[in-house]
Amino acid sequence: MIVTPHPDDAEFGAAGTVARWTGEGVDVVYVVCTNGDKGTSNTNLTPEELTPIREEEQLAAAKLLGVKEVVFLHHPDQGLDDTPEFRKEIVRLIRIYKPETVVTADPYRRYVWHRDHRITGQVTLDAVFPYARDHYSYPDLIQEGLEPHKVRDMLFWATEDVNYRSDITKTFDRKLAALRCHKTQVGQIPPGDLEERLRGRCRMMAEGEEFELAEGFHRVEIWQ
Ligand SMILES: [Zn+2]
Repeated sequence: MIVTPHPDDAEFGAAGTVARWTGEGVDVVYVVCTNGDKGTSNTNLTPEELTPIREEEQLAAAKLLGVKEVVFLHHPDQGLDDTPEFRKEIVRLIRIYKPETVVTADPYRRYVWHRDHRITGQVTLDAVFPYARDHYSYPDLIQEGLEPHKVRDMLFWATEDVNYRSDITKTFDRKLAALRCHKTQVGQIPPGDLEERLRGRCRMMAEGEEFELAEGFHRVEIWQ
């Protein structure tokens, strides 16, 4: 399960890994927390107009990566808070989809870090542990038939503390193509520049490894 603050963050953070997993037959579900309606400097486009465009972009990227399902939570962009309601939304999805691995933004990146990213990471971590795990956390979810679920591990993208480098040498091209689906976000960057920048970053992330290109994460084992 990939929990992304905005449409496009998951492609920057984890699309190469997602493409590798789906290629191996792993089911991947995306949870998109906000509608991304503040994500433009184009003042000819209203937030109301931007929302469906960004959803379409996200769906196109997910399709290209072989993602099985995309769940949109439709929170307003820049509108996330660490609330019991948001946490419960994520717990509910964890109990429905029962992911082995949950991937999201690192909440502990320092200083200039989008508030939605920080909050998505924190709330998702809390939802995994302990709220999705514990029987008495949500008696009403139990009554709905949503039993506790233990997630095996979590991967946090955009981390300052990389301890896991995921080989995306064979899926880099699909990461790039998925990223290009987000035209409102990367459409203004010359295509060659985007590829060069991305390749450079992924190559640097793979330094010291036996493969050429990597996405970097902080990996935490929750249950073995
Ligand atoms: Zn974002």
